[in-house]
Amino acid sequence: MAHAEMNALIGLKESEHPNIRSYILYTTMEPCHMCFGTAVMMNIRNIHYAADDGFAGATSLNEKLDYIKRKSVNIVKIGEELEAFQLILQSAYEYKRKHPRIENILSRWREVNNLAIDIAKELYGSGYFERARDENKSIEDIYSEVIMKYLNTKIRL
Ligand SMILES: [Zn+2]
Repeated sequence: MAHAEMNALIGLKESEHPNIRSYILYTTMEPCHMCFGTAVMMNIRNIHYAADDGFAGATSLNEKLDYIKRKSVNIVKIGEELEAFQLILQSAYEYKRKHPRIENILSRWREVNNLAIDIAKELYGSGYFERARDENKSIEDIYSEVIMKYLNTKIRL
């Protein structure tokens, strides 16, 4: 249950946050069933996320379940660059931790952005993220370098 959204929501008491319906839950990956359901039940009515999660994302429930539809949850997907960056980081992490279902997960994420997964594989294989850590690169520098690689590769295709 230790997903980032759950960790953010768990200490939030509506009695201490009477305007909770106006809050925005920002998350890099599309929330899963557990996190989306928890946010809805806690009266969060705005969710902004960067990357579609074709493997475990659950925001499509917003339109499919009458109960949730009545809550009028406003879901906003942030732009393509942030989605690509998130998928690259998360995919590189899955390569690193050798997730037992990695091919299944990555094939679903490839349906969202195939190029991002190719770049994640290349950057992970070249040791880019380990070097960036060892060199204490800032997240801003890592973002710039990764996105430049993504955009330059996209232009060449
Ligand atoms: Zn989750």
